[in-house]
Amino acid sequence: MKVLILGAGVAGVACAYYFWRDGHQVTVIDRNRDVALETSFANGGQLSYSYVAPLASPSVIPKIPPWLLRRDSPLRFRPELDPAQWRWIVEFLAACNNRTADETTQRLLRLAFYSRDLMHDLVAAEKLDFDYVQNGKLVVHTEQESFDSARRLMDYQRKLGAEQEALDAAQAVALEPALEDMAPRIKGAIYTPSEDAGDCYKFCNELKRLMGEGANPVSYRFGVEIERALPSRGRLIGIETSHGVFEADAYVLALGTSAPYLLRGMGIHLPVYPLKGYSLSLPITDERAAPRISVTDYKRKVVYARLGDELRVAGMADLSGRRAVIDVERVGQLVDEVKMAFPRASDFSTLGPWCGMRPATPRGTPVLGATRFSNLWLNAGHGALGFTLALATGRIVADLAAGRPPHLPLDGFTLH
Ligand SMILES: Cc1cc2nc3c(=O)[nH]c(=O)nc-3n(C[C@H](O)[C@H](O)[C@H](O)COP(=O)(O)OP(=O)(O)OC[C@H]3O[C@@H](n4cnc5c(N)ncnc54)[C@H](O)[C@@H]3O)c2cc1C
Repeated sequence: MKVLILGAGVAGVACAYYFWRDGHQVTVIDRNRDVALETSFANGGQLSYSYVAPLASPSVIPKIPPWLLRRDSPLRFRPELDPAQWRWIVEFLAACNNRTADETTQRLLRLAFYSRDLMHDLVAAEKLDFDYVQNGKLVVHTEQESFDSARRLMDYQRKLGAEQEALDAAQAVALEPALEDMAPRIKGAIYTPSEDAGDCYKFCNELKRLMGEGANPVSYRFGVEIERALPSRGRLIGIETSHGVFEADAYVLALGTSAPYLLRGMGIHLPVYPLKGYSLSLPITDERAAPRISVTDYKRKVVYARLGDELRVAGMADLSGRRAVIDVERVGQLVDEVKMAFPRASDFSTLGPWCGMRPATPRGTPVLGATRFSNLWLNAGHGALGFTLALATGRIVADLAAGRPPHLPLDGFTLH
């Protein structure tokens, strides 16, 4: 089968991999000059299989006023004259109830655990160089109330198969000595030994290298702007681009935050809106002062991962329009966070600042699978978990397109 993958971020590349492994003739199209140059470029690097609880939950409601008022809040909202933003907010608020949040957590956990299995199979089978580590994660709580509710969530997640342990401050520092400077603020931490980390950009490039091998390599069309889908009689007959029309037997939409545009022209609403986040890539100048275990500062919503000889720091979620432009004030706030948490880890000589747009759905679940066009498949809306979920979602879409049943029930992941 001739397959066109639209979008060369981690969602598109991981999906291309499973089609390629099935022996299909795969082409990946992207407007950039290579893979993973937008949201998949410098994300937090966390393969966060057990931390999938959605942003939409009842606990978020009281935090909304500070989002609006405080400039240094980890989550920030700037209203736009954009009906899509308001529609997204209404759907988000509707999802902020316990029943929906629990349902979403269960679904995402199943998907993430499947992705973890696929990642472990992949790294066992192939030699991939992407700073991958199976180093576990410590989620650090600096408020007693949040630690208490994290312990309750841990008990709940345990029933769903997550292996986690609650630690006091001394135990957390014993496990990760680089937390020493943070220790006086720590009320407790949740340790998950089964979490991984890696560099998403390198991962995509390694998959690209792999897919260049063998008798049937994947081909790439970079620098091509996808403009419009060409539907006819319930299927797509092509994709119109800046470089002419591309035709295939099956099409996979993996365009990140741009996915809704293509679908809108076909009368399909995809509830994806950009949530801007920031990262720093800091050179590690004191080995012992930088964490080896991935760390999340729960209150400040900042994640830390050691990727090779750099410390990747990521955070912020700004609902502030569609432009992926760096706000220097936000970068400064992220630098301040690191200086408080791991002040000696880097000399801060280079910051490697970056911002990216998470393709967020109101509920926090990606949108996968069939559309009303028989040969168009969705693989979009991965939000804050695209690196974590990409192998599972890619495999599911490749299975569906090949007529195989997916590994998991898709309730809550499809358009309707
Ligand atoms: C600060 C930050 C930290 C994060 N941390 C983590 C983390 O620790 N762990 C994790 O799992 N996830 C994390 N994420 C989320 C993750 O990065 C995203 O979910 C993921 O990158 C989305 O991948 P994607 O392929 O859907 O989108 P993208 O990577 O944006 O890919 C979409 C591709 O489509 C192309 N495209 C779009 N429109 C067109 C068009 N019209 N024509 C041609 N090409 C087009 C783009 O060029 C792009 O290459 C983080 C995100 C941010 C912003």
